[in-house]
Amino acid sequence: MSDIIELSAAQAVHAIRRGELQADAVWSAYRDRAAADDLNAYTWVAGPAAPAVEREAPLAGVPVAIKDLFATQGIPSQAGSKILEHYRPPYSATAVERLTGAGAPVLGKTNQDEFAMGSSTEHSAYGPTLNPWDRSRVPGGSSGGSAAAVAAGSAPWAIGTDTGGSIRQPAALCGIVGMKPTYGAVSRYGMIAFASSLDQAGPLTRDVTDAALLLGAMVGQDPRDSTSLALPEPISRPTATDLQGVRIGVPEELTGEGIEPGVLDAFNTTLEKAKQLGATVEAMRLPHAQHALAAYYILAPAEASSNLARYDGVRYGLRADGDGDLLSMYTATREAGFGAEVKRRVMLGTYALSSGYYDAYYGRAQKVRTRISEDFKAAWESFDFVATPTSPSVAFELGAKLEDPLAMYLNDVCAVPMSLAGIPAISIPNGLSEGLPTGFQLAGPAFSENRILDAAHALERAIGFDGSKARTA
Ligand code: GLN
Repeated sequence: MSDIIELSAAQAVHAIRRGELQADAVWSAYRDRAAADDLNAYTWVAGPAAPAVEREAPLAGVPVAIKDLFATQGIPSQAGSKILEHYRPPYSATAVERLTGAGAPVLGKTNQDEFAMGSSTEHSAYGPTLNPWDRSRVPGGSSGGSAAAVAAGSAPWAIGTDTGGSIRQPAALCGIVGMKPTYGAVSRYGMIAFASSLDQAGPLTRDVTDAALLLGAMVGQDPRDSTSLALPEPISRPTATDLQGVRIGVPEELTGEGIEPGVLDAFNTTLEKAKQLGATVEAMRLPHAQHALAAYYILAPAEASSNLARYDGVRYGLRADGDGDLLSMYTATREAGFGAEVKRRVMLGTYALSSGYYDAYYGRAQKVRTRISEDFKAAWESFDFVATPTSPSVAFELGAKLEDPLAMYLNDVCAVPMSLAGIPAISIPNGLSEGLPTGFQLAGPAFSENRILDAAHALERAIGFDGSKARTA
């Protein structure tokens, strides 16, 4: 049993396909660990009966944990919110359908910040998730349940969503790999929306090879999401072992002030390793990156205030009685169903979009977003990738930032620029600082997924991170 848990997902897939391992044994090993999970990583776990999967299927029956906000037919899909409590959708998200179609049955639904708003999973209506490296600390967020489950070995792999860092930051804080692909690479159909122009699904996995395998099974154009697109080439298995000829840019704006010294040390150590592998590493500028967080906290709440208007007590889940009229039923439902952070975002977004303020806030933030995209386009003239630490700190104590929204928002200072530009970025485990994982982020131009995965694969070998401690804890 424990041998199964020590296999990467890709190794398990290959062993099953070669007939050396039974898919049912993999299912049971993980299903039992998920059912016994004491990190509150799951909001729902599948029953013990192993689903029948063809051995020849690309993912061979190795199960996947799914962030709560993916609509999953007949299975609670609550987006971490009370307002969707007991909601069981009549259909599944395209990403989930593709994965189950490729032979990865649903192992469970994972905890998250309510509507993916947060960086710690403490904003879940179903209680916080704990970090398997240190249970007094957060796993990051908003995909904290997926990250904690993979790190703790209660899931072989998982999917999450990243609007402004929600795959990459929890991956960094839990010592696993997380990738946000190019905007549009994975269909958003059936993903409970936060900020539609930013939301992207992607894999959270133990290593880079697993990330490529899982991402490859999710991507593709979908007639049900008009913003989805076909990648120019399929995702391939990363094989690179060196970085000969690779040019890495290190933006001054995202590698200085505000980054914990231990995180920065680990980052610089890996840059040295990149040079030893043949890369050139040069300081560069992303002149508008320092405004990314401010623009994001206008744009994302603006879109959220519109997306969340549908939770009115009529169409989904919870309904609270008002004073007998429709408007008071709406307000009572939203008052009872939404948590404090969601209310804060709805208020911010509604204000930013209100007549008279629209140009001053939303319009201006859109202009900043364009400038950030242009900064990256200019960077690609001289560099293949941009590298930064993923998160400015290691996992923090539960409760440490809950009363200070701005401190919480700063977690994504290095992740948000790539989201605004719609470009792909990966976070890989980058060694420990004070005994806790740190992340190394590599971003590239739109559609450079295969090159990012290859470079990350070479770096991963050089870093030699050992995540097994979190699985035994
Ligand atoms: N932490 C950021 C926020 O709270 C990003 C969340 C995300 O990527 N979903 O909005």
